[in-house]
Amino acid sequence: MTRRSWAEPYKIKVVEPIRITTREERVAAARQAGYNTFLMRSEDVYIDLLTDSGTSAMSDYQWAGLMIGDEAYAGSKSFYNLVAAVRDVYGYEELVPTHQGRGAEHILSQILIEDGDYVPGNMYFTTTRFHQEHAGGTFVDVIIDEAHDPTSLHPFKGNVDLDKLQRLIDDVGADKIPYISVETNVNMAGGQPLSMANLRATYEICRRHGILVMLDATRALENAWFIQQRETGYHDKSVAEIMLEICSYSDGATVSSKKDNLVNIGGFLALRDPELARQARALLVAFEGLHTYGGMSGRDMEALARGIREMVATDDHVHARVGQVEYLGNALIKAGVPIIRPVGGHGVFLDAKAILPHIPHDQFPAQALTAALYIESGVRGMERGVVSAGRDKETGDHHYPKLELVRLAIPRRVYTQAHMDVTAESVIELLEHPESVTGLRFTYEPESLRFFQARFEPIA
Ligand SMILES: *Cc1c(COP(=O)(O)O)cnc(C)c1O
Repeated sequence: MTRRSWAEPYKIKVVEPIRITTREERVAAARQAGYNTFLMRSEDVYIDLLTDSGTSAMSDYQWAGLMIGDEAYAGSKSFYNLVAAVRDVYGYEELVPTHQGRGAEHILSQILIEDGDYVPGNMYFTTTRFHQEHAGGTFVDVIIDEAHDPTSLHPFKGNVDLDKLQRLIDDVGADKIPYISVETNVNMAGGQPLSMANLRATYEICRRHGILVMLDATRALENAWFIQQRETGYHDKSVAEIMLEICSYSDGATVSSKKDNLVNIGGFLALRDPELARQARALLVAFEGLHTYGGMSGRDMEALARGIREMVATDDHVHARVGQVEYLGNALIKAGVPIIRPVGGHGVFLDAKAILPHIPHDQFPAQALTAALYIESGVRGMERGVVSAGRDKETGDHHYPKLELVRLAIPRRVYTQAHMDVTAESVIELLEHPESVTGLRFTYEPESLRFFQARFEPIA
C-alpha cells in the first residue's frame, strides 16, 4: 500500500480545554503585558506558539513511568534506565544528568575552556554562548553565510563553513581551541539542519588538529529527519540509524531534553572519554546534584528515558512533528506570506520587515507584529529581531540584525491540524490590512536579555 499523507501516530486520551477570548479581553491583556508576549498569562492565550521548549505532550507510557520513577538519592533504577537509553539512541557511554540543557553547557564549558580560548560554533545559542564566555572563551561564528540570508533555499543552512573553521585554526592555533560546538538543526537560524557530509568533514578537520567536537544535540532528531529527506544515501536509513551516525562524528554532546526528548524538564551531558566524564561529575555535585540524578527527580529520569526511546521507535513521530510545521509553513507560502524558507524543524518564522515596511526598524516591526497577531487572534508567538538582539556594549545603539522575525514555534504532539489552519488564517487576515499595525517604543528596557521582560507602548 502506498502512503498518501501522514497523520499523527497517536490518538488523544486526555485533553486540556483552552478558551477563545474576546478581542476586548485581548486588547486589555496586551496592554497589561506591555505588548510583550513573554509577560502574558497563558490563560489569556488561545493557541500558544511561544516556544517548543518543555511544552511537549507526554505519552501514556511516559506518564506511567512517573509512577514507577525510583526516587533513591543514589543509584536510582531510573538513572540506569536513562543511561541505557542514551547509550542505545545516541551511542555515548558516559552520561552526566543535569536539570536542563544550560546545566550541561555550564559543566562542559567549565571543564574544557580556559581563559583566552576560542570556541567556534555554527551560529550561537543564547545560553551556550553565555557559558562559553562565562568560562573565559570567545565564541566565533563559523556557520555558512547562507544561514543569515532569509531568501536562500540552501537545504543545509546549518552547515559549518569549513574555510572559516580552518582560518580560525590558522589564526589562533589549535591549542587555543578546546572544542567546536556543532549545533544540530540550528535554532537561531530557524531550525535549519546540517548535512552528514559536512559534519563528517568538520570532525576530520578537528581530529587532525586535536580539537574535540561537541554536539549541541538538542534537536538531533529533527536534523536526522532532514538528512533522511534531503541527503543522498540516507533515504533508506531509519532516523534511529542516522541519529547514531550523527553522534559518531563527535566526542560528546549537550542536550536540552525539553525539545526532541518529549519531556517538560531535563537535560544531560554525554561523553565518550571516561576521564572527561570524571571531571564533569566532580563539578556536577557542586552545581547540579549527585552524579546519578543531576538536577532531575527519579520520575523525571524515567519519563525522559522513555521519551528518548519513543522519539526514534518509528520514523512516524518525527515525520508528523516536522510535517505539522511544514503544513503551517506551506499554508502561509501558498497565501503569499513572506516566511523564512526552507521551512525549519520547529517553527515558522514570519518576515516582519517585509510584512510591515511602513514601520521603521527602531520601532520594532517584529515586536509590533507579534502583539498585533495576539490581539487579532489569541495566537501567541515571539519576537526574534532587534529587541532580542539587544544593544551594542560600546556604542549603546541597537543591534540591527538582518533577520527581523516573528517566530511561531510548534509544541510537539499538542495541537492539531485544525489549530494550524486557524493560525494560518489569523496571519493571512492580519496581512490584509498591515497598515493598521503601528510601531512601538519602550516604556521599560532591561539591561540584558531585554526581550524577556521589556515593556512597550504603541506610537500613536
Ligand atoms: C533550548 C536550547 C538550549 C538550552 O536548553 P535549556 O534546557 O533551555 O537550558 C540549548 N541549545 C539549544 C539548541 C536549545 O534549543
